[in-house]
Amino acid sequence: MIVVGCIAGGCILLAILGFLLVKYIAPELVLTLNGSDEYVEVFADYTDKGANAYYGAPMTPHIPVDVIKEGNVDTKHPGEYVIEYKSQYKKFTASVRRKVVVVDTMAPVITCDLSELTLCYGQRYEAACSAYDNYDGDISGQIQQTLTDDALILSVTDSSGNEAKRVIPVKYKEDDEPPTITLIGEKDFFVDLSEGYIEPGFQAKDNCDGDITSKVKVTGLPVSGKTGVYTVTYTVSDAAGNQAEAVRTVMVFSKLPDSSREEAPTAPTVYLTFDDGPCGYTAELLDILKEYNVKATFFVTDQFSSYRHLIGRAHNEGHAIAIHTLTHDFSIYRSTAAYFEDLYAMQEIVKEQTGGYTDLVRFPGGSSNTVSARYCEGIMTTLTRMVEEQGYHYFDWNVASNDTGTTDPDVIYQNVTSGIAGKTHAVVLMHDLKPASIATIERIIQYARANGYRFDSLCATTPPVHHPVNN
Ligand code: ZN
Repeated sequence: MIVVGCIAGGCILLAILGFLLVKYIAPELVLTLNGSDEYVEVFADYTDKGANAYYGAPMTPHIPVDVIKEGNVDTKHPGEYVIEYKSQYKKFTASVRRKVVVVDTMAPVITCDLSELTLCYGQRYEAACSAYDNYDGDISGQIQQTLTDDALILSVTDSSGNEAKRVIPVKYKEDDEPPTITLIGEKDFFVDLSEGYIEPGFQAKDNCDGDITSKVKVTGLPVSGKTGVYTVTYTVSDAAGNQAEAVRTVMVFSKLPDSSREEAPTAPTVYLTFDDGPCGYTAELLDILKEYNVKATFFVTDQFSSYRHLIGRAHNEGHAIAIHTLTHDFSIYRSTAAYFEDLYAMQEIVKEQTGGYTDLVRFPGGSSNTVSARYCEGIMTTLTRMVEEQGYHYFDWNVASNDTGTTDPDVIYQNVTSGIAGKTHAVVLMHDLKPASIATIERIIQYARANGYRFDSLCATTPPVHHPVNN
């Protein structure tokens, strides 16, 4: 209508006027965002600024219009959120959008109790550090560790890509410390042969290599089926060649069976006992005993190894075989291990000669000896108990021939016969090493029989003859 009748330049002016009229007077629905798109840190408080709507034009009154908001921002979870604002007035509608991005920009924190490190060349090392992230929580398990020429670098990245790094300076040194071996269980112990040896275990650690238990070599293990005292040796060497050694003393004994106790003989009995052989005189002695059908007891040694076979002969001829000592060296009293090492070695010889172990024993010097105190205070008190715990029966004597103090057969005869007189059970100490003793045996047998004595060999059930223990 305005255009009707316009001509030339007047027409342009009219068009501008018309446009201004529409712009400033014609009402419309106006919806405006408060603020703009936003970035919000995860877990931070977020308050929506909203939007405003009205119906009107610049030159007319504004009629406020309600705004409906759609969409939410979850600040607990990073991501892009869109909020839409909508308004309606009569047939007019309007909408605007706001983008809110919840972001995690905080790097995790690495916590270590380390300010610097000294490591060995070639040493592997893993620091016990933890990492905590504001959003991911504990991410210690994701820490990457890199060892360089001069530092241990720890790094970790959270799920939003924020990286944390710690650099711990490292110095290197030569490994000049030997490893350590720790033995589990007793250092020295007894094992019953029938039960066998079970390694109680060990651990080896090195300052540089860490746990090197698997590299330990064990030697000197007990031989299966044999009594004896064994030194089990554990050795290990670290990567730099430093060595460590530990030893354990294992005493393998044969627990002797309990003997059923027969009735102790009530008849007066002489028990001839011969120590320190067998030797060059033993065969002659056996001949005499055979001739008189007398059974005696031999407390044997291995001092004269070439006569070992006489142990077998004595056994076959009905005599009792008992252990005295392998070496007859009093230094066996320096320790229980030394004593039993000697005893078990002799036991094996007895078994080799007779087919079985013996449960009879006589201590070198007797249980009352004091010479042992020079080697170890109190050892006889310990040993007399220990041999019995292992099933042995030890015998001393109550008649001394003193054949080690004289070479005169008559003196020996006197000592023995006067010692026997009046005793029901006479345990006579003699030595088959002494020819003078062998020379008196026939007369002693004749004397004893003439005085109503019988002869017997010792056994587990013979009433024990024990000296008082003095050490
Ligand atoms: Zn002796």
